[in-house]
Amino acid sequence: MNYRAPRGTHDIFGEDAAKMSWLEQKARDIFKKHGFEEVRTPIFEESSLFIRSVGQPTDIVEKEMYTFEDKKGRKLALRPEGTTSLVRAFIEHKMDVLMPVSKFFYAGEMFRYERPQSGRYRQFHQIGAEFFCVSSPVADAEIILLACDLLDFVGINEMEARFDNGHFFEMKVHLNSLGCRKCRHVLREKLVEYLISLSNLCENCLRRLVKNPLRILDCKTDSYKFTEIPQLSSYLCDECKHDFDLLKSLLEVAKCDYVVDNKLVRGLDYYTKTVFEICCSDILSSINSSTPIKDAVNCYDQNFKPYYIKARRMNKDLNRRITLAAGGRYDNLVKDLSGQDTPAVGFALGSERVLIVAEKFGSPEFYKSFRKFEKVYVAIADQELFKEAFSFAVKIARNGLKNSKDISVFGPINDKSLTWQLKFADKIGARKTIIFVKTEFKKGKVLVKNMENKVQTEASICEL
Ligand code: ATP
Ligand code: MG
Repeated sequence: MNYRAPRGTHDIFGEDAAKMSWLEQKARDIFKKHGFEEVRTPIFEESSLFIRSVGQPTDIVEKEMYTFEDKKGRKLALRPEGTTSLVRAFIEHKMDVLMPVSKFFYAGEMFRYERPQSGRYRQFHQIGAEFFCVSSPVADAEIILLACDLLDFVGINEMEARFDNGHFFEMKVHLNSLGCRKCRHVLREKLVEYLISLSNLCENCLRRLVKNPLRILDCKTDSYKFTEIPQLSSYLCDECKHDFDLLKSLLEVAKCDYVVDNKLVRGLDYYTKTVFEICCSDILSSINSSTPIKDAVNCYDQNFKPYYIKARRMNKDLNRRITLAAGGRYDNLVKDLSGQDTPAVGFALGSERVLIVAEKFGSPEFYKSFRKFEKVYVAIADQELFKEAFSFAVKIARNGLKNSKDISVFGPINDKSLTWQLKFADKIGARKTIIFVKTEFKKGKVLVKNMENKVQTEASICEL
């Protein structure tokens, strides 16, 4: 019986693991500069918590949640998203009562039972932030800019690449306001009026028409039918309209490229007022990376060569987009989960998706930043020098070499021929092999072999 990782999950090795850690570390640095503190919540919670917060008639709760019972029959769920757990923790630790303003971030695994495809997994990683206690759109703007800054750091924001059918790769903030409890029902009525006028809605949409019509706009089957949705933002109450206008002007001041997207509703029920998604052209399904074209700008492959893009499918697909990060305001959730009335806004970013896009379009900095460590192999030409070589390897692993602190040290391995050791050094991708030879060692020296051009030089041990 050959075991495999469960469908939709993946093992992350070597450079891929380094990229994930690098992204999370960058996020930590940025969040800390904005005064956000890290929180680690459990990977599972009571399933009723998610049902209550995310909402029963949502894809996440209806189809995607991993639920199970423990040995005492408690109904639990692997967390499908981070906000709910954080709000639960916020209330449990009485921060809704004690803290005037709280800013938190998290990074970790989420679980959703979805059909696996590129950029969509059953276990995936999110990085997210939540900003509690500030109802002003200044908090919404900070959250949106934080998400953009993070993508900027990875190099995604500055990408500008042209597909061979004339389209540009672009990243944009899509923005909408869903109103508050006061005006949501008006938006709802207008939308229902419109949806009823359409024929042939799918079964799911018909069901949601009564329970949660806003969710219908997110329907993957029917979305092409919604061509003339009423301009929902024109039915907002004065306060929501004021907040939405102020947010837009703050984003403009900060030179954030956004579009108002009337169809944007998000897949979770707890949002009020602001919702947003940061999207880019759907490169995952639309490009064939092997065929170069002219005019790609600012895009580099792993060897820092300009990267060119050939569109595999036609315009229709390139108009599709993928969401890298998403979020919004949820002013009622803390109270709905039995906390004090506390406004809040947050976002989450999908690490795998961001890394896939960064890999296709990332700047050289992206690769340089986690390829820092140079592999060095310590070899022995004479077995009797094994202990000396071993103690040298321990020393350089602790302190680095004189002109290069960031090294990964391998070897020595005893009872192997020098030829075997050099082949091994090649296999692991060592840049240098430091060889202990009896005649040189007597003079306090070793041989240093450059594994790329195979040139060998002598060096004194105390100078390395
Ligand atoms: P989608 O419409 O793509 O299903 P969503 O609205 O369900 O996204 P959110 O709940 O807003 O996604 O999660 C925020 C981000 O997490 C997404 O923008 C995406 O980058 C990432 N994400 C969501 N689901 C998955 C998944 N199954 N696998 C990998 N990343 C995911
Ligand atoms: Mg989804």
